[in-house]
Amino acid sequence: MSDADEFGEIERLFRPLTRGAPGAFELKDDAAVVSHRPGCDLVVTTDALVEGVHFPIGEAPDLVARKLLRVNLSDLAAKGAEPFGCLLTVAWPRSYDARQRERFALGLSADLEGFDLSLLGGDTVVTEGPFTTSLTALGWAPTGKMVRRAGARPGDRLLVSGVIGDGALGLAAVQGSIADPEGVLAFRYRLPTPRLDLRDTLRASATAAADVSDGLVADASHIAKASGVGLILDLDRLPLSGAGATWLEQQPDVQEALIRLGVGGDDYEIVCTSRGDRPKPAGFTEIGEVTSGDTIEVRAAGRIVDPGRGGWRHL
Ligand code: ADP
Ligand code: MG
Repeated sequence: MSDADEFGEIERLFRPLTRGAPGAFELKDDAAVVSHRPGCDLVVTTDALVEGVHFPIGEAPDLVARKLLRVNLSDLAAKGAEPFGCLLTVAWPRSYDARQRERFALGLSADLEGFDLSLLGGDTVVTEGPFTTSLTALGWAPTGKMVRRAGARPGDRLLVSGVIGDGALGLAAVQGSIADPEGVLAFRYRLPTPRLDLRDTLRASATAAADVSDGLVADASHIAKASGVGLILDLDRLPLSGAGATWLEQQPDVQEALIRLGVGGDDYEIVCTSRGDRPKPAGFTEIGEVTSGDTIEVRAAGRIVDPGRGGWRHL
């Protein structure tokens, strides 16, 4: 691609995605300007996706773009932040054709519209390697009020939003190792929904929070470590989807199956802690409690288990 073509394509594909944001200068400048929102901190997060690592080779480009945006919005959601914009880097494989690049931009466009965000700038390169793309999401939180991983105190409740396990089961479904007749599990894995709807609840009630991307046990442990506390996490209380519950019923070893759901990733729900002497916030399931010390005690099928023993594995 000549330089002229390249700039033409950036204009054509990405300029509409600014959605008129004044500080994006129609992507005609070297940098963008973000006007400060009074009374707020700018909250910033970034995540990259690599073909064959974070999404299957040959995945539809529009879904890659939407997942890229959504995993970043999930981080902002867990922080109680309100997203408004993003920066995008794409490294197109030479083998990608114009149609694939356009599908990527159209997918991103649909979700920017849906979540009411503007693309403010980015960078475009070509690679001999796998398709790689990175997005930096920007959001606002009231000054000093971003919900941190640090902040959990002994006696707090341990909570999780939505349902857990569909991400890991969805990956297994995409890989063809479990049945998914209606495709609901695969769909949840391919196109997660960031829990931006929980912002007010998190700001009002959470003492600490993280999004569930690495796996519930790991992400809850991140909160414990950052907060200098221990946890009791009871996998018997895990909120499951209908498909997740059906899968669990079919497993010969319930304890092992619960551990698999607890350590699997890609749910993009929110794990948080809230004060034990206040009512449980709506939209969350209580799955354990915060303890003093630094021990992470995981229970499944009524017993204390070692979720690390089997290690992480594909289902
Ligand atoms: P330079 O290399 O001179 O910095 P670029 O080609 O990187 O210029 O960028 C030109 C303009 O296009 C900038 O405003 C940049 O933010 C924008 N841009 C380039 N690639 C992307 C992209 N993938 N997404 C959004 N904006 C982009
Ligand atoms: Mg420049």
